[in-house]
Amino acid sequence: MSIKAWVSKGLISSISQIVDLFFPPLCSGCGGYVKGNRFFCLECESKIKPVLPPFCPLCGRPYHLGEMHLCGECLKDTPFFKAARSVFFYEGPVREAIISFKFKENIALRKFWVREILFFLGSFLQKIKPEVILPVPLHIKRLRQRGYNQSLLIAKDLAAKLGLRCEARVLRKVKATPPQVGLTAAERERNVRGSFAVKKKERIKGKCVLLIDDVFTTGSTVNECARVLMQAGAKAVFVITLARATDAV
Ligand SMILES: [Zn+2]
Ligand SMILES: [Zn+2]
Repeated sequence: MSIKAWVSKGLISSISQIVDLFFPPLCSGCGGYVKGNRFFCLECESKIKPVLPPFCPLCGRPYHLGEMHLCGECLKDTPFFKAARSVFFYEGPVREAIISFKFKENIALRKFWVREILFFLGSFLQKIKPEVILPVPLHIKRLRQRGYNQSLLIAKDLAAKLGLRCEARVLRKVKATPPQVGLTAAERERNVRGSFAVKKKERIKGKCVLLIDDVFTTGSTVNECARVLMQAGAKAVFVITLARATDAV
């Protein structure tokens, strides 16, 4: 390394040390101070739980014990997506981090999420071989309120890492719907029905689509997205979410 590079590297690290002194990095789970380039403190890190097998190979519903087998829901009503996977359980520090990523502009977390998707779901991605990545869109009204779509940030970064195209404007939320929080599975399904549309269909026609969302609760949102994407001519739709509601059976 040249002297110039050493000086500039040294300078950058001292600048970042000074910045850390005045604006110390905070844990995305508990808000406490963390050292260095970490996103979580050690205590929160120890509470983060990835979704590991066994789970339903189709919707990703986690099981406490046993082998991989289709869940009752998928047997009763086959989803429109081919398979859904989540990185973590939606609880504790992950829940806090998703809330701050979504509503409190903690967008630096995108780096963490993408790194973890690649780590935990790398083999899934290799198997499904997506050709195009789409975020679950927000309605324009909500996008204006929030200023950004958290799922688009992930979709863009993941697409860049995988050398794929991210299509931000193909899937549209055309009907504003009340938040899904507090609704039953049947109400959620009714709530989102007919609220998405596909524009520029040729961009996904005959393609294997990977859909990105933040939380998988009952799957009604991603299933409705998958329904309109399949109707628009997608070859297959796969889903990755950052977290999965904790309803392990
Ligand atoms: Zn913490
Ligand atoms: Zn299932």
